[in-house]
Amino acid sequence: MELGIKGRQALVCAASKGLGRACALALAQEGATVTIVARGREALEATAAAIRAETGVQVQAVAADITTPEGRSVALAACPQPDILVNNAGGPPPGDFRDWSRDDWLKALDANMLTPIELIKATLDGMIQRKFGRIVNITSGAVKAPIDVLGLSNGARSGLTGFVAGLARKTVKHNVTINNLLPGFFDTDRIQSVVGGAAKAKGVSYETALAERVAAIPAGRIGDPAEFGIACAWLCSSQAGFITGQNWLLDGGAFPGTF
Ligand code: NAD
Repeated sequence: MELGIKGRQALVCAASKGLGRACALALAQEGATVTIVARGREALEATAAAIRAETGVQVQAVAADITTPEGRSVALAACPQPDILVNNAGGPPPGDFRDWSRDDWLKALDANMLTPIELIKATLDGMIQRKFGRIVNITSGAVKAPIDVLGLSNGARSGLTGFVAGLARKTVKHNVTINNLLPGFFDTDRIQSVVGGAAKAKGVSYETALAERVAAIPAGRIGDPAEFGIACAWLCSSQAGFITGQNWLLDGGAFPGTF
């Protein structure tokens, strides 16, 4: 299936590694012109070069912290009129809510709620004028089934989810959709360090700690970021204009509910 996004401009945040990178690659494979943003220039340039080599499309690399106003300005200066916006940033650290200060909360809200809202604000009206827009927010399975130690993530991402639920119904008549992708457990650097941390804390091997996690996933494995990227590209396709305000869980069946 052709996704009908050849030549579309895509701004993909936090995309030098992991899920963001997979989304950028899948969009580029469909012929979208991609601008990728991440803080560290070295990994970012390497990713841009790899996507260019694999797809032959134009890839811009913008080294910036997307959670700051300055970082967002630089990203938007490089890609002022995206047709596709993939919102993503690093997740907040785990912990106990008793230890979190107001500043910890503000950091989590900035990264995982207010940054996507600011980027939507900066790009949405142009999409509406051009009668095409696809916005995908990478959130977390924690929005649907909270993870106790990730209270900062549970809270901040739920705030974004509530906001998007209202806005997404107002934009769809202009062929601008807003949806959230909720990763379960995907094989990225972040997850490798989470599993590595758990292994160390329990005094077991990495393989044992990983097997414990996998035991809770009906698919019997963790997700491949490429699967996530393809789901994102499809949500950004010209064919997906009737889908908005949805929270699409990609978790190998780990969430046990009927809906
Ligand atoms: P990752 O660590 O593999 O990659 C994160 C990417 O984001 C890197 O390219 C990094 O440079 C970039 N980044 C981080 N903070 C940034 C910032 N402030 N500005 C610009 N770029 C920044 O992480 P991942 O596993 O791909 O996770 C992506 C998001 O999805 C995170 O918010 C994470 O919490 C969430 N998530 C991931 C999983 C999973 O299974 N991988 C599960 C649930 C939620």
